[in-house]
Amino acid sequence: MSVTLDLAAHNSNAPTVDPAALFAAPKQQLVGLDRADLLEALGSLGVPEKQRRMRARQLWNWLYVRGVSDFDSMSNIAKDLRSRLADAYSIERPEIVAEQISQDGTAKWLMRFPASSPTEQPVDVETVYIPEADRGTLCVSSQVGCTLTCTFCHTGTQKLVRNLTADEILAQILVARDRLGDWPDQETPAGMTAPAGDVRAISNVVLMGMGEPLYNFDHVKKALLIASDGEGISLSKRRITLSTSGVVPQIEKCGAETGVMLAISLHAVRDELRNELVPLNKKYPIAELLDACRNYPGVSNAKRITFEYVMLKGVNDSLADAKELVRLLKGIPAKINLIPFNPWPGTRYDCSDWDQIERFADVVNRAGYASPVRTPRGRDILAACGQLKSESERIPAWKKRAISAALAGEDMDTHDAAHLAARSDAEAE
Ligand code: SAH
Ligand code: SF4
Repeated sequence: MSVTLDLAAHNSNAPTVDPAALFAAPKQQLVGLDRADLLEALGSLGVPEKQRRMRARQLWNWLYVRGVSDFDSMSNIAKDLRSRLADAYSIERPEIVAEQISQDGTAKWLMRFPASSPTEQPVDVETVYIPEADRGTLCVSSQVGCTLTCTFCHTGTQKLVRNLTADEILAQILVARDRLGDWPDQETPAGMTAPAGDVRAISNVVLMGMGEPLYNFDHVKKALLIASDGEGISLSKRRITLSTSGVVPQIEKCGAETGVMLAISLHAVRDELRNELVPLNKKYPIAELLDACRNYPGVSNAKRITFEYVMLKGVNDSLADAKELVRLLKGIPAKINLIPFNPWPGTRYDCSDWDQIERFADVVNRAGYASPVRTPRGRDILAACGQLKSESERIPAWKKRAISAALAGEDMDTHDAAHLAARSDAEAE
């Protein structure tokens, strides 16, 4: 049924809007269902109970070991079941809107995920691949935009549009593997750089893209458990790192329920400065954050927590800061990662001078922390840490209300109608 929204009652010059015509609901994704969900899905498609486990194993293998993106390639699954699966589910990849390759081999993709309801719009998400000689790291986004507003971070200037779902987080890994030829019997395509020898192209995953992963924990957890499943993508949990700006109440849970490595965006050693750089510090100050780190499940010298520290010229880069950093982290199994600040258009900060970064690193080195400076990668394509941002915006509340009212066949709030009419006029000009 198509519902036409007639604004004439409110504004005789306004155009008519047909929200239903603008929206076709996407099929549910099969990627992102865990094993229990998959068994249930097979049950609802009429697969007899005693066959479900075997079918789920086969699907898992096609999706995560072979990387297929159409049901027809699943040769050991009967045609009839393949077509029932295809009627109910999709395993299509998201659209790649843009692909950029940096001079240093870093690759960045802008992927578009469809809206799941008429009150949403498609969202664009950035994912970055950083090849090194002995590893390839994929930097994955967990949200579109961010609710937090760290002052040195480009993503922090983009309001949260929405959380990504488990399938959208996993899709970033699958698309990157497609583009890098990282499935069995594939080669690295011309123009792409990957580690040498038999290291897989994506050997490591870091949740350091757009968003705060601990504010989207359920979806992030589901995606990470699927990515580390030994019969699927099979990434070692030691090679998956989740970076947080310090959502203290979620840290224990993260360790206990995912078992992945933790990175903390520390960036300052005094609360006063950290309140400014990472405003979440006002809620969870440094002492509480470090306590949560001491108690992180599984933390040990073999499984250290990484502390990230962005080098901001004249702000947090004095040698006194370096000494305080070392003192604060005493007793915590830690690695220190000094990140030269990556500039972005409109930022008020500069990156510390290289000499100062070296002096700061010396203090950290002498305290026993090895190779602490992270080489900036992909700066020429705005793919480095903290440079990610997409054009996606949240649909304003008034517009959502208007669309919902139209779909329900109700009259729109007069205020919202006027707003919509004014916008339509402005867009038409
Ligand atoms: N929200 C999470 C993960 C995404 S940010 C977090 O804050 O930890 C990934 C890392 O990049 C964080 O350590 C973040 O502080 C850092 N970062 C943000 N902006 C940066 C910039 N402009 N230059 C260098 N590092 C930056
Ligand atoms: Fe969000 Fe992390 Fe950027 Fe802070 S640094 S604004 S938490 S993405």
